[in-house]
Amino acid sequence: MPFRFLLSLIAVFSFSNVELAAKADSPNIVVIFCDDLGYGDLGCFGHPTIKTPNLNRMATEGVRLTQFYVGAPVCTPSRAALMTGRLPIRSGMCSDKRRVLFPDSGGGIPASEVTLAEGLKQQGYATACVGKWHLGHLPQFLPTSNGFDSYFGIPYSNDMDRVNDAPRGREPFWNPKVEYWNVPLMRNLEIAERPADQTTITRRYTEEAISFITKNKDEKFFLYLPHSLPHVPLFRSKEFEGRSLRGLYGDVIEEIDWSVGQVPQTLRDLKLDQNTIVWFTSDNGPWLTFNDHGGSAGLLREGKGTTWDGGMREPSICWWPGTIPAGQVSAELGTTMDIYSTSLALAGAKLEKDRIVDGYDLTESLKGKSKSPREIVYYYRGTKLMALRKGPWKAHFATQESYTGNNKLTEHDPPVLYNLEVDPSEKWDVADQHADVIAEIKVAAEAHKATVVAVPSQLEIPLSK
Ligand code: MG
Repeated sequence: MPFRFLLSLIAVFSFSNVELAAKADSPNIVVIFCDDLGYGDLGCFGHPTIKTPNLNRMATEGVRLTQFYVGAPVCTPSRAALMTGRLPIRSGMCSDKRRVLFPDSGGGIPASEVTLAEGLKQQGYATACVGKWHLGHLPQFLPTSNGFDSYFGIPYSNDMDRVNDAPRGREPFWNPKVEYWNVPLMRNLEIAERPADQTTITRRYTEEAISFITKNKDEKFFLYLPHSLPHVPLFRSKEFEGRSLRGLYGDVIEEIDWSVGQVPQTLRDLKLDQNTIVWFTSDNGPWLTFNDHGGSAGLLREGKGTTWDGGMREPSICWWPGTIPAGQVSAELGTTMDIYSTSLALAGAKLEKDRIVDGYDLTESLKGKSKSPREIVYYYRGTKLMALRKGPWKAHFATQESYTGNNKLTEHDPPVLYNLEVDPSEKWDVADQHADVIAEIKVAAEAHKATVVAVPSQLEIPLSK
């Protein structure tokens, strides 16, 4: 008995030691998320006139991810995928009737989901959300009810709550004025300012983010910094007016680039750079129907709202000096759901066993030590699986063009097939040469569909009066 007791004591102590070691090694985690940024909108992703020296430097010091995807081509479901590590169809955070949440929505992220912030909080992280949330604006859905210690930001899109006497249609976007959109700026559960002064929003998000990092320099922290921009209407502060050859949109990106630069600079100043992983990406592709007020998907086809790659592949960077080797360009597959799984793995958290998590731990792949564990990307529009990528091959079962809300869905049987590594612009359908690939992708699609359980859509719940 004494011997067995001793053995169990040793077991307990070794287990605690392992836990403590894992915790001490866990990095701080920062996720910088843009809104409607296109694959071609950064200097380091090929834009000829938008200057992004800070993002370029981050890319040079870390890894530039050239085949990195989101979980959906519009805001709400895409953010749900990042926050839950799950395709939005599993959480009810998508719909075929309403594509995102609106100020008149009564739904939001279900309490049963384990958000990235909740998972990290359980591991002892201090957590903050600064920026656009868009997973429900009622108190029970806001960040502070979902694992974040604090929240500062506009809770949904910056073009919502348009005032009655603002010009109709798209007119107010071409010469945007703050007072056209009565969007709230919230601090935790309270409205701090309304309408939010959007001209200074990027600067104020940045100040809030830097202050959170500084305050928590001696703790493990998770900062989620989802910018409200460059979603239309476009605003930037005085210092960035008229700076970019790309016009207003370029000014907005250059201010975001300035903001991004403050994060690694602060981490260097506080000597936290070797112990912090920073991700940069966006929620979905550019809103092309807004002409020069929308971004560019570069060589990718189409944009926001569509399941062409321009709608769902994002310019992405991951930075962790000393752990992720500098100067890598990785064409390995990844998604924002993998940010969830990678972060929780780095924090030593265990994933819930009672649910399917769609993310993968990319740590070894980011270090350049192995291939990405991800082989498949699912492209959903609402609840419909429109396309599936397996390795280099992408088969479209259905397609729909620009995000205008009234365009036609076209079904394809057999599917249209592209080799994205040969043909990233999705120009040359090679279905008739690769019946075997199509058969394989169809099997993968059916196997995936068998894992999906229908849940009620949160996006269709009206606000009760
Ligand atoms: Mg968006």
